[in-house]
Amino acid sequence: QKVQLAAAREERILVLVRLRPLSDQEIVANEVADWECINDSTILYRNTLREGSTFPSAYTFDRVFRGDCSTKQVYEEGAKEIALSVVNASIFAYGQTSSGKTYTMNGITEYTVADIFDYINRHEERAFVLKFSAIEIYNEAIRDLLTSGNTQLRLRDDPERGTIVEKVTEEPLKDWNHLKELLAICEAQRRIGETSLNERSSRSHQIIRLTIESSAREFLGKENSTSLAASVNFIDLAGSERASQALSTGARLKEGCHINRSLLTLSTVVRKLSKGRQGHINYRDSKLTRLLQPCLGGNARTAIICTLSPARSHVEQTRNTLLFACCAK
Ligand code: ADP
Ligand code: MG
Repeated sequence: QKVQLAAAREERILVLVRLRPLSDQEIVANEVADWECINDSTILYRNTLREGSTFPSAYTFDRVFRGDCSTKQVYEEGAKEIALSVVNASIFAYGQTSSGKTYTMNGITEYTVADIFDYINRHEERAFVLKFSAIEIYNEAIRDLLTSGNTQLRLRDDPERGTIVEKVTEEPLKDWNHLKELLAICEAQRRIGETSLNERSSRSHQIIRLTIESSAREFLGKENSTSLAASVNFIDLAGSERASQALSTGARLKEGCHINRSLLTLSTVVRKLSKGRQGHINYRDSKLTRLLQPCLGGNARTAIICTLSPARSHVEQTRNTLLFACCAK
């Protein structure tokens, strides 16, 4: 199993599946868990009422995490190597609303930052700057989650850095507590203008970017200092039900279309990358993929964590997520 996982990690896209446990409310509501991880790589659909149905009951991935696995475990065994690789990296959470994307992503961001600070403290021969930025893509509009107000940020093509978000706040991270403060600010910003956070987060993508710059100390401040930079992105995607939702009206339709576009473009890009296809990849079809282009494909490393609810009532969305995961691997 370990050897297999190591081999999978050599590939560009690592696909992980995380099944959450039934929530207390679901248990109270007599909800039934129909999905079970039978080993480290296989998840099984166990609804005997549906026996004989046409969809497959077993799905195999690089790694599946059971409901009782901690986020620390998901980080250590799934995301850590990619998050801490010296090249650009992206870690996505994909799944329907309430499947555990934010729960998983927040934990992984915190563990990554803790490990980066640990690394910085052990390498005093180099000087490091770790920068934090956070944006939301809502209706194909980009908003800074570290500043108040509704100013829309624009994407610009920079000859050296690729596609960048103009005027985005980049906060130098002081320590782990500082990260917690910034995450709280982001969450408060996401709530603005919405009746509930879930409403908004189900429709918008949140991208947290850490940029690490380092230079040899003796060259500090000098023109020709040997400097290295890499970004790691943590992407808490809009609820995947938005990609499969066909019926909407009015403003909702517009939102639905945009979210469809970002999620669908992402899945097209991911599918092409996973097939190792050399042909044209339409990164420019959505803000999300355009922005992440330098951190997808090429030498970049990508992990997609697909989060699943075990509940019987969610089976359609769970299957959609598994189909996406199968296409991505
Ligand atoms: P999403 O961001 O996909 O909409 P959340 O991350 O908000 O979903 O999770 C929905 C609820 O389930 C939250 O109350 C969260 O704390 C809980 N939850 C999600 N994943 C797990 C898990 N693996 N273990 C325990 N509770 C979880
Ligand atoms: Mg969420």
